Amino acid sequence: MIKVQEYRPQSFTDFAKEENVKAYQEALAKVRKELVGRHYPLIIDGKEVDTAEKLTSINPCDTAEVVGTTAKATIQDAENALQGAWKAFESWKKWDMDARARILLKAAAILKRRRLEACALMSIEVGKNYAEADVEVAEAIDFLEYYARSAMKYSGFGSSETTWFEGEENGLMSIPLGVGVSISPWNFPCAIFIGMAAAPIVAGNCVIVKPAEDAGLIAGFMVDIMREAGLPAGVLQFLPGVGKEVGEYLVNHAKTRFITFTGSRAVGLHINEVAAKVQPGQKWIKRVIMELGGKDGLIVDETADLENAITAATQGAFGFNGQKCSAMSRLIVVDSVYDEVVNGFVERAKALKMGTGEENANVTAVVNQMSFDKIKGYLELAPGEGKVLLGGEATGEANGKQGYYVQPTIVGDVDRNSRLAQEEIFGPVVAVLRAKDWQDALDIANSTEYGLTGGVCSNSRERLEQARAEFEVGNLYFNRKITGAIVGVQPFGGYNMSGTDSKAGGPDYLANFMQLKTVTERW
Ligand code: NAP
Ligand code: MG
Repeated sequence: MIKVQEYRPQSFTDFAKEENVKAYQEALAKVRKELVGRHYPLIIDGKEVDTAEKLTSINPCDTAEVVGTTAKATIQDAENALQGAWKAFESWKKWDMDARARILLKAAAILKRRRLEACALMSIEVGKNYAEADVEVAEAIDFLEYYARSAMKYSGFGSSETTWFEGEENGLMSIPLGVGVSISPWNFPCAIFIGMAAAPIVAGNCVIVKPAEDAGLIAGFMVDIMREAGLPAGVLQFLPGVGKEVGEYLVNHAKTRFITFTGSRAVGLHINEVAAKVQPGQKWIKRVIMELGGKDGLIVDETADLENAITAATQGAFGFNGQKCSAMSRLIVVDSVYDEVVNGFVERAKALKMGTGEENANVTAVVNQMSFDKIKGYLELAPGEGKVLLGGEATGEANGKQGYYVQPTIVGDVDRNSRLAQEEIFGPVVAVLRAKDWQDALDIANSTEYGLTGGVCSNSRERLEQARAEFEVGNLYFNRKITGAIVGVQPFGGYNMSGTDSKAGGPDYLANFMQLKTVTERW
């Protein structure tokens, strides 16, 4: 066991304090000088490998700006990464759990020192405002600290209790799976990216990480930290590339032992299907861990503190422009308080300022052209499916900057079966649904195929208890916003089409990346 303090999540920075804003702005200037314009190559077997083609990362809030580039892996690079990772596995799997955990703790220490730089880089690369970037880097540190501690309980026979049996020694060992692929999204490109790599790695696996195209620089920054922390060559293979090309190749590959994926439902289901097919020479059933989308609802009933509900709705809907799997995209209000809640919500949202991440705007640009076009398509549907109460336009500019800007949009009286009420939009667009009463509200909440996050604002004990049992989501929140799960505090992951409920930041998450071996010795 390493001597460490009990796990405690990082605290968040208070940007109401002038000195913290100033420090952030200094970090932005430093990042502009030192990181913007950088090129990150592939890292295979500890060596930098460059490619003929590159991927370009753009500032979504000012699309004229190129933030930097990464290499663009070829199929041959993917093959080399996989073969190299299996070689590295031969020694990495024999490392002591404590020794592996130390690398995560060291990486956490480095990231704590470079916290503001990581934040500033995300403000520029994906348009996070200060608070959104700050909570994400805090989460990345938490993942490293939490998984390091979790690993220690799996040392030797330490993982699970078995029953004593006369004349024998029996024990249950947790051993790593082998080499896997980690495919991550752009919306939490620091925290989810590193969490999905660090967990399998500390458990003794080697991992090929394929970051999202829109956020290759922050991924490269995090990989540098893992290397600086002393991760041996080949344990983490950095493979920026195109999902449909190298991602697909690795998912198919006979030598891929597991796939951990966070992203959209469409891509996730496709990966699940491809991974299920046994390839020539494959000697295992690939393990697939999936965290997918959501259509997350917040219910407000007539007993609720309505001001608190309006705050919860505004924070949950528009934090990072609704680009969170946990974002509140459905507000479900009981008829008798509908007008009061919806008017309050619209008023609150009207005050949100649009602009760049660097200016610390409340609502910034969405991530890329594809996302902008997709959201625009839903905005066109909106007048036919409900009443547009706020916004409704994809402006493509804010404060004179051209970017993927979409107005915060609230659509009232949306039909519960409409596309706006059922499909994940992944932008600052909220469908408000009118429920007859509490039971109708709960039925509406459960009427999608997803089941990621959800919430209830109510002061009725019976209703909260009913929701506790019947609201079909992986993360349920009462009388607060439905986003912002904290590592170790609110283990995160969804039901139904939202994923395999693997609970990132939870006590058993590492078990996803291990297999158990029962060993019996007759004395
Ligand atoms: P996405 O389009 O599904 O992409 C996710 C990753 O998959 C990217 O790295 C992408 O690479 C890669 N990919 C695409 N096609 C692939 C293929 N055929 N084979 C292998 N990999 C492939 O999702 P996104 O737009 O980045 O992220 C937003 C989605 O993630 C939303 O649906 C959101 O709800 C979900 N999400 C869920 C959670 C959760 O915990 N449940 C957390 C965050 C986000 P490219 O970038 O090269 O296309
Ligand atoms: Mg970008």
